Amino acid sequence: MDKTFLSKSRYCSCVQCVNILWLSKYKPEFGEVESNDSTLETGRKVGELAKCLFGDYKDVPVDENINKRIEKTEKLLQEKPNIITEASFIYDNNFCSVDVLKNDSDGVEIYEVKSSTKIKDIYIDDVAYQYFVLSNIGLNVKKACIVYINNEYIRGKELDINQLFNIEDLTDIVLAKQNEIRDNINKINEFMQEHDSDNQPESHLGKNCFDPYPCAFWDYCTRDLPKPNVFDISGMWKSVQFRKYDEGKVSFEDLENEDINPKYLEQIDFELYEREPKINKDAINSILDNLNYPLYFIDYESCQYAIPELEGTKAYQQIPFQYSLHIIKEECAEIEHKEFLGESNDDNLIRTFAESMIRDMPEDGSVIVYNKAFEATRNKEIGEMYPDLKPEMDRFNANMVDLMVPFRNRDYYTKEMEGSYSIKKVLPALFPNDPELDYSELSLIHKGDEASNAFLSLKDNPPEKEEIIRALLEYCKLDTYAMVKIWEKFIEVTE
Ligand code: SF4
Repeated sequence: MDKTFLSKSRYCSCVQCVNILWLSKYKPEFGEVESNDSTLETGRKVGELAKCLFGDYKDVPVDENINKRIEKTEKLLQEKPNIITEASFIYDNNFCSVDVLKNDSDGVEIYEVKSSTKIKDIYIDDVAYQYFVLSNIGLNVKKACIVYINNEYIRGKELDINQLFNIEDLTDIVLAKQNEIRDNINKINEFMQEHDSDNQPESHLGKNCFDPYPCAFWDYCTRDLPKPNVFDISGMWKSVQFRKYDEGKVSFEDLENEDINPKYLEQIDFELYEREPKINKDAINSILDNLNYPLYFIDYESCQYAIPELEGTKAYQQIPFQYSLHIIKEECAEIEHKEFLGESNDDNLIRTFAESMIRDMPEDGSVIVYNKAFEATRNKEIGEMYPDLKPEMDRFNANMVDLMVPFRNRDYYTKEMEGSYSIKKVLPALFPNDPELDYSELSLIHKGDEASNAFLSLKDNPPEKEEIIRALLEYCKLDTYAMVKIWEKFIEVTE
């Protein structure tokens, strides 16, 4: 039987779990994941920008077939010294293309570009595999490096790509891994020869199902487990879940007498025995007693740029671009609604956001949020970026009340929350079958990352721009309306 064709991404999948390769070949329909266009786009933009670190370069088009790419690479290799991007090579059915290849007269240097801010072990496997392929076809590989994002760099008026990227020389580590690469490739080939389409390998669930990446075949590999099971316990560390799984404690019945965190036992108990809601009126009253009119129910949406677009920001900094604000000025007053949605090309987006918020929340009432850490951190960052706005940001933070606390502390808990205190779980648990509070009823945007991607997409002025803006406003408005309803629910259950 032919040896398995490996690419660097297939090789890296096999480092995680060799079953991934078998399942991708014979049962790909069970591993389909929603492609996240914005992640791919981020990777593409970072890759393109990093190429500029090396001066003029010649590109091997990735949309050509493999033979043409290899042929073109061979030609470009003759023109040394030069820089070749996407240079493509094959050795004994092991294929790779190198993001940036420095082709000197005395050898080559490999540069693998990552849009991450840290070097992960899997990146080292990736570069070591490239080193293996290139050195085995006879190239003198002088250096093997990773180019990744420096998230300490604060962008000035102009972007300085030399500061934005870190380059780490991994040659020694990669060299030390060469025997391991050969062994792994042999094992992969043997494994695929032993297991044809009729001979499915056994799944061995373990930590590697989520490390370094959540495996797309998780649902398939766990299809025969009882429901709910140890992996449905909210907040339990993966290492503990796998330990229990290995001990044969899988179903909630298996786990109900285990020596585990009381919160996990409570989730199990509520779900196994259909318990009635638990409500600690004193704890909820202490939140209500702390509120002062006007009540400002506010929620931010934010996005992150791998390549910082705004002066004074870092890579992947959370950039607040939108808020929704429901206001109740005094007892029994009508609910008012205000909102802000920034322009994606506003160079002062963060300041515009903050100034609008200051105008909309002029008085010293309670600033009510759900998950205080997020909004409070954004306010702190705004204050650091714009010292003149700091007193107002500090004021908001000092007046902040977190509606999530009773749910996090299990002072208010129902079995439908399934151990979680996320608003997306809490809301349907408190208001089942209420279409007005159902995120799935919204068009286009149903969760935070979709909002962030939608905002980022506005930069390209898409034809559906108006529809996206409407969806963003509707989504964020539901977040704060939901908070008003939760507050009303607190009053109702404590009466
Ligand atoms: S879910 Fe786990 S066992 Fe199944 S293929 Fe993925 S990593 Fe392997």
